[in-house]
Amino acid sequence: MSDEPQLPPIPAIGDIIDRKKRFVERKHSVIKCEACKADYSRTFKPGDFVFKKITDEECNKCKRSKSLTIVEIYSEWIDPKKE
Ligand SMILES: [Zn+2]
Repeated sequence: MSDEPQLPPIPAIGDIIDRKKRFVERKHSVIKCEACKADYSRTFKPGDFVFKKITDEECNKCKRSKSLTIVEIYSEWIDPKKE
C-alpha cells in the first residue's frame, strides 16, 4: 500500500528564494540635458525625483550645462556574483 501524497520537490522553491536574496537593487536616474539634449543615466541619489531640476551637477556629455532634468527613475536587480 502506497497511498501517501506525492509532494512536489521542495528544493525548486528554495532556489527561487535564494536567487531573490542574492540580487541587489540598484537605482538609476535618467538625466536629460537642456543644452545638448543628451540623456544618460547615473546612479540614483537621495532626493532624486522625476522632473526634478538639477542645478548643481554638470552634464555628463557636454560638461558645460548645469540645467539638467530628471526624466526617469528606474531600478535594476544586479547579481553581485556576476560583477
Ligand atoms: Zn549637455
